[in-house]
Amino acid sequence: MIRHTKSTEVPSSLGRGGQANEGNCTAYDAAAADYRSGARSFDIRKGIYGTDVVKRQLKADQHDKCAFCEAIFDANVAGDVEHYRPKGAVDTDAGRIYPGYYWLGYTWENLCYACPDCNSYRKRNWFPLEDEANRARDHHADLTLEQPLLLDAYGPRDPREHITFRGEAATGLTTAGEATIDILALGRTALARDRLQHLRRLTLVHESVSVFGDDPRPEAIAYLERARAELAAAILPGAKYSAATADHLAALDAGQNFLPASAS
Ligand SMILES: [Zn+2]
Repeated sequence: MIRHTKSTEVPSSLGRGGQANEGNCTAYDAAAADYRSGARSFDIRKGIYGTDVVKRQLKADQHDKCAFCEAIFDANVAGDVEHYRPKGAVDTDAGRIYPGYYWLGYTWENLCYACPDCNSYRKRNWFPLEDEANRARDHHADLTLEQPLLLDAYGPRDPREHITFRGEAATGLTTAGEATIDILALGRTALARDRLQHLRRLTLVHESVSVFGDDPRPEAIAYLERARAELAAAILPGAKYSAATADHLAALDAGQNFLPASAS
């Protein structure tokens, strides 16, 4: 997970969303008890917050990667617009809380783009706080009092200061880092396996540069130039698993390889 910069220009459909947010706040004030019990719920419309314009802009801001796991969106991996603060309900260890962050349902700052594994199967409505007593339960509350445990790819905290990688394995450096790994299952089998394959391939490239870096033959020099360029590109923000890759290549530079021994 890395930090991204969100475009300052709010997608056009969310302009209507501002009015819809206000409408939901008015509706809440008229029947707060019903919304807090779950008897009533808000219809946060995907036709406003999840339009193609919003998707395109978020994907561009995130370099076509999942905001959480850094998987690249391609023909096999589609994503969806996700609310950082859950829009319809909040799940906690103590149970479900209604009505969720309805007043942020159409708010640009609360949106990101995530893969189905991170979004629909893992994060869902989980949004734990350091202190549950500070949770904003409605639009009258002070959101700044909350200290979310889940890291936000667009938030003020740099995920790299909270999560590090030892080989393909994600490790929390802080409570928020540990919670984020847990909520999103950043160590899940398929993801860790794909990260491992990616890092193994780059390890070979790194080794070739280390072992043959002084080869004076012209063809070797040309190859090594491409290999070094590939390593440099692999840690750019747009690269697949760039955080894990940066930590792995730094370890290799320091003479350490934390990847498990290859079975083959
Ligand atoms: Zn993901």
